[in-house]
This record gives sequence, structure tokens and C-alpha cells, in this order.
Amino acid sequence: MSLIVQKFGGTSMGSIERIKQVAGRVIKEKNEGNDVVVVVSAMSGETNRLLDLAVKMGGKQDDMETDLIISSGEQISSGLLSLALKNEGYDAVPMLGHQVRITTDESYGKARISSIDSENIRRMLKSGKIVVIAGFQGIDSNGFITTLGRGGSDTTAVAVAAAVKADRCDIYTDVDGVYTADPNIVQDARRLDVVYFDEMIEMSSLGAKVLQIRSVEFAMKYGVNLFVKSTFVDGNGTQIKFIGEEESMEELQVSSVACDKDEAKISIRGIPDRPGIAAKIFSKISSANIVVDMIIQNISIEGHTDLTFTVSKKDLKKALEITEELAKELDAKEVLSDDKIAKVSVIGVGMRNHYGTASTMFDVLAKENINIMMISTSEIKISCVIDAKYAELAARILHDAFNLGRQN
Ligand code: ASP
Ligand code: MG
Repeated sequence: MSLIVQKFGGTSMGSIERIKQVAGRVIKEKNEGNDVVVVVSAMSGETNRLLDLAVKMGGKQDDMETDLIISSGEQISSGLLSLALKNEGYDAVPMLGHQVRITTDESYGKARISSIDSENIRRMLKSGKIVVIAGFQGIDSNGFITTLGRGGSDTTAVAVAAAVKADRCDIYTDVDGVYTADPNIVQDARRLDVVYFDEMIEMSSLGAKVLQIRSVEFAMKYGVNLFVKSTFVDGNGTQIKFIGEEESMEELQVSSVACDKDEAKISIRGIPDRPGIAAKIFSKISSANIVVDMIIQNISIEGHTDLTFTVSKKDLKKALEITEELAKELDAKEVLSDDKIAKVSVIGVGMRNHYGTASTMFDVLAKENINIMMISTSEIKISCVIDAKYAELAARILHDAFNLGRQN
């Protein structure tokens, strides 16, 4: 007998019919003799609808009222799934974050879990019940409801799995695993049987929507045995795991290609090149809660330099206002911005053991006459910022060049 945590996303919970289908997946695990804890998301579109209501009433993302409002979608889902299980003759119990006792800090809208009391869950399991937990929500030390950031039910599931020491945590979604590239862009994209934690963190931070990045970090920290599976088709899905001793060093150089159109770039031209300027610019930007991704600074000419950086598109307006004000203060020449950019990346732990990944990537882009505007690298990732109109083409030719397509 194993203890399994299953998590079902918004699409899987999207209608009464689908919730019945989800109940079937839960029952299957239970019938195999396992203890089952389920974590559910709100029905698809529901969180957006609730957020919209809160915003119309003047609520901001970090207001406690907004969290109280948007957390309610998961409450409905857990009740509905519990009912569906009872209809099939199974004993189930719906639980909200505070009933489990998922405690968080007080950052409304993006709270971090500080502890999970596994006692209540264990007691329910002991009495034979299937526990159905509302994802995405917790309470702060004052007892007020918090939410864990968009996509946060993944983190609830992984955190619960860590707390109860589950044998497995299965994240069920509308795709049957993690792919070598977005199958909507790259036709011969392939499902991966295994993705390593380091790779998954890069993929999530590059905008792959399969798993919330925090959930991956959490799983890595606590060694949760994590899978991504499809609610709608049977299969083993993708396992996210640590690189084991047994892993061959012959692994692929690159395991996936990502394409992110969510960023925009800002350049400040002709700023004085002296200590403290970058510190000034980026501290102003970060204090506005804007995350900067890539940064390049040009070589200095006659005591002046150019600085270019990227932010997410939704932050462009605010970041531009701040930059323009600073440019005046610093007597810079001009501020330019461009939101028609894309970031294409190749990711793979195999890069550690291969030479020339970067040069292959640059070659491939050059052959198609695609200009690279910015480059950033990590040990297992290379990203290039290019013109948005070449994003899909770049993803396809890189996928080909690194032999990621379906092997026939
Ligand atoms: N319902 C929340 C959202 O839409 C949490 C989740 O689905 O994971 O972001
Ligand atoms: Mg999700």
C-alpha cells in the first residue's frame, strides 16, 4: 500500500462531467489499495472571473480581500469532487487550507508556505477517507486567508506530499507530460519520460506552464517523487527527478527548447560609465516589485555606455516610467523600448558534458539570418533574445538541430 497525492488542474475540473472523470482517476488509485490525498484547482476560468470581480471593486493583488475572494474557487472544486466520490460509494472529506492547517506568511497574493500540519490529514486517512484538499490557499499567523500565487495548487500538492511523506505526487493536467518543445509550435515535439529537477526549474522559469516554479523548487528541496500526467489519456507521464548515479553520461546535449514571448526590453543609451549607476537603476526597478531578467552593458566609449535589460511585458510601462525619470536624472542620451522580442532557449543537463552547445545554437540562428540581440547562459541553459517574428522558426530549427524530434 502506498500513499499517493494526486493534483488536478483547472481544465481537469472544468465541468461536472470532467469532475466525474477525475473521480474515476482517484477511485482507481484507491481501489489499488492506496491511501489517497487529492488537491484540486478551481474550475478553469474561475480564478480569473473572481479576480476580475475583486479588481472591479478596487481590490489590488496584494489585498487580503482579494485573496479571500479568489481562494473560493478551490473551495467549490473540493466540495464537488468530494460529492462525486461519495456518489460512487467512496468515503471522502473536503478540506480547506485552514482546516488542514497550511500556514503561510502574510504576502497576500503570493504567500509562501511556512508549515503544514499533517495530523488532520493522517487522521482522516486512518479512518479510510479520501481527503480532497482545496489547493492554492492557506492562512497566515493571524488566521486570515492567503493564496500562493497563480498556479499555486501545484505547490499545495507538492507541499502536502512532502508533509505526509507521500510515496508519489502525481500532477494531472491537460497534457500527458513535459515535452521537448511546445507541441503547438514544434510539430514533432516529443514527450520526455524523465526531466531532471534542474532542467524543470529552468523550463518553468522560461514560461513553461506545466508546473508552477515554486512547486518544483519545493519538490527538489524535499525530494518529492514527482510526475506530470494527463487526466484524459492513460500513460506514465513525465517523471521529474534528480540525476542518479546510474544515469549515463551519454545523455543528450540538449533536452528541450523553450520560447518565451512574454518579455520586453528597455535600453538606456549614453549613460555616464561610473560606479553605482547600475545599482541605482536596478534598485529603483526592484523596489517597484519588477523582476529584471537579462541585462547587458556595452563597452564604454568616452566615459559613456549603453545598458539594456528585459522585464516581463506586463511591467514594461512602469519600468519605462522609472527608467525615463532616471535617465533625466543621470543625463543619459535616450531611452528605447521594444516589446516585439522573444527569448528562445535551449536547456539540458547534458550541456555540462558537451562542448559547443552555444556555438551550435548561434550557428543555427545565423543560417536563418536571425539576429541575436541579447544572450544569457547558465550551466544548463542558453537563451537568446531575437525579433518576435522569428520565435517559432527559431524554436523549430533549434529543435531539429539538437535532434529532439520524434525518433521514427
Ligand atoms: N486557481 C489558481 C489559479 O488559477 C491556482 C491553480 O490553478 O493552481 O491560478
Ligand atoms: Mg496549473
